[in-house]
Amino acid sequence: MRVLVIEDEPSVASFLKKGLCEASFAVDMADNGVDGLRMALTNTYDTIVLDLMLPGMDGFSILREVRVREVTTPVICLTARDAVDDRIKGLDLGADDYLAKPFSFSELLARIRALLRRGQELHANPITIGDLTVDVVARSVHRGGRRIDLSPTEYSLIEYFARNIGQVLSRTMILEHVWDINHDPMTNVIDVHINRLRKKVDNGFDPPLIHTIRGAGYVLRNDRT
Ligand code: CA
Repeated sequence: MRVLVIEDEPSVASFLKKGLCEASFAVDMADNGVDGLRMALTNTYDTIVLDLMLPGMDGFSILREVRVREVTTPVICLTARDAVDDRIKGLDLGADDYLAKPFSFSELLARIRALLRRGQELHANPITIGDLTVDVVARSVHRGGRRIDLSPTEYSLIEYFARNIGQVLSRTMILEHVWDINHDPMTNVIDVHINRLRKKVDNGFDPPLIHTIRGAGYVLRNDRT
């Protein structure tokens, strides 16, 4: 899952970047409103974390603009404590949630997870397909009762697949949701990681769950059901 953080305060920005990366998100950062808006309109994000007081363009203007342009990505606003008017204005402009500073990282993470659930079919946790389970809270994966150790990228891939069971995901979609803006689009990075993931998730188990759809992408599905 890919997140855009628009936050100008360096200490808060680095705290968010570090925490979100550790939680297996692909994270893009903007330290001013103008870059933040441009990135929000150009790239595909699963969630946007938006500070309201920003140089260049404030958070309210960004929110108004992304909603006018019909970007429906969930937005969490970061507000000053006691700034009730800001919260109301943000929610009225199309924010999905807000968090008053200072906040605990675990609360932000729980709110992001809640927003990710809202945008899709409601998933029980863990997500189960055949004998594979993906626990998106514990970020753990088991198959046939055995724990599977995955790298952060492999985990992000399987979570993205698990949230979209049965849906063919193109390489572009996978890049947009699992990698941040710094990836090199010319490399075969996706295929390499999917091959590694497959070895861990499918080798030695039956049936295979990760399928290649020639010319289209990949899909997680159980052909036995
Ligand atoms: Ca700020």
